[in-house]
Amino acid sequence: MAAQSIDQLRTSFRGELIRPTDAAYESACKVYNGMIIKRPRLIARCADVADVIAAVEFGAKNDLLTAIRGGGHNGAGLGTCDDGLVIDLSRMKGIRVNPADKTVRVEAGCVWGDVDHATHAFGMATPCGFISTTGVAGLTLGGGIGYLTRRFGLTIDNLLSADMVLADGSFVTASTEENPDLFWAVRGGGGNFGVVTSFEFRLHPVKTVHFGPTFWPLDEAAKVLSAYQDFIKEAPEEVSGFFAFLVVPPAPTFPERLHHKKVCGIVWCCTGSAEQAEESLKPMRSLGNPLFDHVGPAPFPAVQSFFDPLFVPGLQWYWRADNFTELSDQAIARHVEHGSRIPTMLSTMHLYPVNGAAQRVGKNDTAYSFREALFAEVIVGVDPDPANSEKITAWCKDYWDALHPYAAGGAYVNFMMEEGQDRVQATYRDNYQRLARIKKKYDPRNFFRVNQNIRPTD
Ligand SMILES: Cc1cc2nc3c(=O)[nH]c(=O)nc-3n(C[C@H](O)[C@H](O)[C@H](O)COP(=O)(O)OP(=O)(O)OC[C@H]3O[C@@H](n4cnc5c(N)ncnc54)[C@H](O)[C@@H]3O)c2cc1C
Repeated sequence: MAAQSIDQLRTSFRGELIRPTDAAYESACKVYNGMIIKRPRLIARCADVADVIAAVEFGAKNDLLTAIRGGGHNGAGLGTCDDGLVIDLSRMKGIRVNPADKTVRVEAGCVWGDVDHATHAFGMATPCGFISTTGVAGLTLGGGIGYLTRRFGLTIDNLLSADMVLADGSFVTASTEENPDLFWAVRGGGGNFGVVTSFEFRLHPVKTVHFGPTFWPLDEAAKVLSAYQDFIKEAPEEVSGFFAFLVVPPAPTFPERLHHKKVCGIVWCCTGSAEQAEESLKPMRSLGNPLFDHVGPAPFPAVQSFFDPLFVPGLQWYWRADNFTELSDQAIARHVEHGSRIPTMLSTMHLYPVNGAAQRVGKNDTAYSFREALFAEVIVGVDPDPANSEKITAWCKDYWDALHPYAAGGAYVNFMMEEGQDRVQATYRDNYQRLARIKKKYDPRNFFRVNQNIRPTD
């Protein structure tokens, strides 16, 4: 890349252009997963849409491998790249709530905590994830699974439009009225089609929810998991809760006798009335011999950020995932076997329920395909110490290998590492060919390829 080119770019760029020789470079390179260490040639931290257009044109003209960075949370590190250009949107944090229309427009550098903060003031929320520091952009473009999924659908089911800069530098809006093919593709197809500069979401009345965990001893895990599966299939859509194998953190929230103990648990989040939550959860909360049980009212943003202090940026993460329509007794036995061997305090396995409202959307209605799945499973090996990276990776892979034969196929793209084309195709199933044709139309040269890549074809 000629220095002259960067100087030319600088004349039309309002944000920061960060090169390896700049003082800001080392910290600008860092992404959330400490296992990912990549060194781009240039980080273009955009201030506005004009900067994004300039950066895309610069990357294309110089034939640079180009990554798009929203919140930088991607497990596989797909928000950055070696020796190329990173289009970093983290400065673009504008948010405008329209309370009359019950919508919010969010710029692509926002994380979910920014959105919750803005919408909570109006007593509303849109479906997001389980942690407030995750980027709006990456999470949305892959689908978006969280506490509100059973009631209001995936994040993409609440996406009304997206403003985008395409590979040729042109600016378009994708919605059901404008470029509907592109709008179909970005609802699950990831960052394959262009840089989204802002999203418009539908909002729902969500302010105070009923939140908290129930923990059980591991010797009751098979019974709990089996009962949970039956329960979550039929529970009212206001009721949600994800199942986990975990190590109880030494936090004041939990009794000292449980600190560092391996348990199984369900983290509940109910958006209906307190009475409904109390009544609906009773059969599960009184099952077996819970070690700890606390469900109470909490503001939605506090729920969203409850796990933030545990999962701070810079930890080592290794991810594996699958979709499940049903957990057989054998699959449950394998879960108990591997879930009981959690290697480090922060490693965990979560089963997120993706039924209810998310299943009312057809499997070909958006790029996200596995609408019939009951659970999105994610196994994460996590630890602060790089010396433990092999240990957490090996546990994660062994666990995944043991459960994969029982899976429905494919996985949630946002929970995958770089696992090859077969896995990407298995994830999109019969939507893949349509995605490949839309990719050909909007990005024929596969300029945007630092992602779970959809290759352009006819
Ligand atoms: C601690 C943690 C908790 C998580 N919890 C959840 C959860 O509850 N629910 C859930 O659904 N997911 C969850 N995820 C997964 C998360 O959705 C993905 O990691 C997602 O990729 C993060 O988005 P990002 O913008 O932060 O990532 P980045 O690393 O910035 O980007 C990831 C990918 O998105 C693309 N991208 C980013 N911004 C844009 C843009 N503006 N335009 C086009 N493409 C773009 C990039 O091409 C890249 O491939 C979690 C991840 C972590 C680390």
